[in-house]
Amino acid sequence: MIARSSTTGRIGLRDDALSACVSCGLCLPHCPTYRATGDERRSPRGRIALMRIVESGLAEPNAEWLAAMDTCIQCRGCEPACPSGVPFGELMADTQAFNSGTRRLPLRLRLGLRVLGRPQMLRLGTRLLALAQRMGFFRSSGFLPGRLPLRLPRRPAPAEVDVVLFTGCVMDTWTPHVHDAAQRVLEATGARVGRSGTAAGCCGALHVHAGLREEARSLAHRVMAALPGDQQVLADSAGCGAMLKEYGDLLGTEEAHAFSARVADVHEWLVERLDRLTPVGGRSEPVIIQDPCHLRHVQRVDGAMRAVLAPFVPVVELDDEGLCCGAGGAFAVLQPDLAAKVRDQKVAAIDRAVARSGAAVVVSANPGCSFYLGAAGYQVRHPLEVVAEGLAATGGQEMTDGN
Ligand code: SF4
Ligand code: SF4
Repeated sequence: MIARSSTTGRIGLRDDALSACVSCGLCLPHCPTYRATGDERRSPRGRIALMRIVESGLAEPNAEWLAAMDTCIQCRGCEPACPSGVPFGELMADTQAFNSGTRRLPLRLRLGLRVLGRPQMLRLGTRLLALAQRMGFFRSSGFLPGRLPLRLPRRPAPAEVDVVLFTGCVMDTWTPHVHDAAQRVLEATGARVGRSGTAAGCCGALHVHAGLREEARSLAHRVMAALPGDQQVLADSAGCGAMLKEYGDLLGTEEAHAFSARVADVHEWLVERLDRLTPVGGRSEPVIIQDPCHLRHVQRVDGAMRAVLAPFVPVVELDDEGLCCGAGGAFAVLQPDLAAKVRDQKVAAIDRAVARSGAAVVVSANPGCSFYLGAAGYQVRHPLEVVAEGLAATGGQEMTDGN
């Protein structure tokens, strides 16, 4: 991690990170908020220019400045596009950490993040919402899946485990069938799989996103304490995987760096063991691949996801070069109008892919993207759900939707 002593300004941004931007503009076409608005203040280059002004003390953060920062999805699509290697994710995370110390975040965001960090509260709340769905009070609202699980089955863990599946918070309670599918695929390689469960809980990704770094550090300590040992920790959520891999930078300790080194995305791990996965019969219907930003731009393991899927199903690519879908953690809740405009771009790309291929299913390895695209009317599945269905022999446990 780069020492904070190299910062000199008001926000505390690293000097060399800020000065690396040469204002070339090559990132602009890769920025979903710039593409949706055409506004330089909604672009990486414009945001960096605005950061510089406040960092150097030339201006105070005002409403317009805050809006420029808050409308960044933190998708990091600008990073791989930048020839100067500007670490935009770091700059924006530091900026939002600064902002969170100068203003109060919206109440619904604070409440939501608090619940995510308390697995038992999240489970209770999910159960109440599931009951309300069953009683017909509502079916789905925005991010909520159409049918939340009413109960979460207990799963016995093997006495010895080779790998730990990181189950997190929202996926563990809202879509446990995805973890079941991932476990089934991992077990088909012969691995004994444990789960991080409620002892580890939430990874803290959304807390970092909101600038609540201390809360995220506290969650990171809990995750690391719950997962001692040296087994690999595998994430089937792109956002969680990216966060776990950045614990070293978040905490700045040797222990945290060592933990991050144990983390891999499930596809990244599986691609080394593809010879142990045997598809049943012929290929099934094609699926459209949606790259979660934290898989493609941050972890950069989107190729592994394709390699794992390829023996099982024909894959159809989108033609939008991995533009964000607009979900962005809590972005779609906090910035619904801009998020919807960004999603419209993704919807147009998916519709073009549907027209080209006739595919009816979109696959995405991130819960936020899945919920947000699901709310737009698509059937969205995790890649490992598709793989699990195509396996000849699993040795894994029964899949369940928890109902
Ligand atoms: S962030 Fe990188 S790509 Fe974008 S304007 Fe700056 S130097 Fe150019
Ligand atoms: S992180 Fe995403 S939304 Fe933010 S400036 Fe970069 S490309 Fe644009």
